[in-house]
Amino acid sequence: MTKQNVTVSDTKTGFNMTISMAVSNSPVFVQKPPAAPGGYISISRKKLLKNLEVNGAQRINSWVDSMRASSPTHIKSTPSSLTEDHSSWMVHHPSALEMFEQIINASKGKQIVMFLDYDGTLSPIVDDPDRAFMSDKMRATVKKLARCFPTAIVSGRCRDKVYSFVKLAELYYAGSHGMDIKGPAKGSKYKKGGQAGILFQPASEFLPMIDEVYKELVEKTKSTPGAKVENNRFCVSVHFRCVEEKKWTDLAQQVRSVLKDYPRLRLSQGRKVLEIRPTIKWDKGKALEFLLESLGYANCTDVFPVYIGDDRTDEDAFKILRDRGQGFGILVSKFPKDTTASYSLQEPSEVMNFLQRLVEWKQLAYRGRTRM
Ligand SMILES: [Mg+2]
Repeated sequence: MTKQNVTVSDTKTGFNMTISMAVSNSPVFVQKPPAAPGGYISISRKKLLKNLEVNGAQRINSWVDSMRASSPTHIKSTPSSLTEDHSSWMVHHPSALEMFEQIINASKGKQIVMFLDYDGTLSPIVDDPDRAFMSDKMRATVKKLARCFPTAIVSGRCRDKVYSFVKLAELYYAGSHGMDIKGPAKGSKYKKGGQAGILFQPASEFLPMIDEVYKELVEKTKSTPGAKVENNRFCVSVHFRCVEEKKWTDLAQQVRSVLKDYPRLRLSQGRKVLEIRPTIKWDKGKALEFLLESLGYANCTDVFPVYIGDDRTDEDAFKILRDRGQGFGILVSKFPKDTTASYSLQEPSEVMNFLQRLVEWKQLAYRGRTRM
């Protein structure tokens, strides 16, 4: 088997595509010898589609396996090896609470900017995504946090939905994985020469398509008990939280069968969720950069962004911070996971403690300055 670029064309539909795939060297599989420029070969569309089907099935399995892995009841390790795995993971991703002093020292002389995911970070993951409420105590903490630092909520959910949970007008909100960004209603006191009253929607041309695919997914997944399709305006989520695990593969197949007619939409997998979004190059990491820019920190060295999240989609933001060499990411997880985040917190209650400590530290620092 060798890896080659394969061009597929269908004269009837005008379908044309070049992909990189493993190709058998056997003459049975390859219709013509490589003749096209750049080593391209042609194979029949039927054979290619069959091959894509196999890859598709593997993909579905890998989504479902990933979802199982992120579900605590399916950690296969025994308790002792689990403890061992966890402690070696913690060496590389220590608790942000235990490392609080070091974190504060690293931020000295820089403006901290806070980015918070919502589900699983500020609110617990619950069976009904419509009931993922944050506690009043958490809300009060985030409110105090926003008085001390510019604060943004970055979520896969629809912006209005996240706002209806958080209910704090003074924050920045980036909904639909950052594809729907809005600044505080009354402007921000932190803005450093940045544009006023931001509203940014890089995928607005996709709105009719998202609506259409949402309706089709609702119809298609009706036969799977517990499946819930959520329209997040610029993306759609299919929740697996209430679906019996033995039905996960079926549900993933149903989702994929709808998506095959929408080449401009892509699928990604999160914690017990499959998400459908436009193929534009925009994610939570890009949203983070956009927000830093609109706050006036585009090319500054004196900014210290902190991003806290629990999901695979938050990795895009963790990666941006690592690439920029600024601030750091904190992964919320009780279990070892592959991550680019520097630190970890176990659950939303620890996130609240961490935010509370940041507020106390800032208030103390402020009082210290005013006393001088
Ligand atoms: Mg989350």
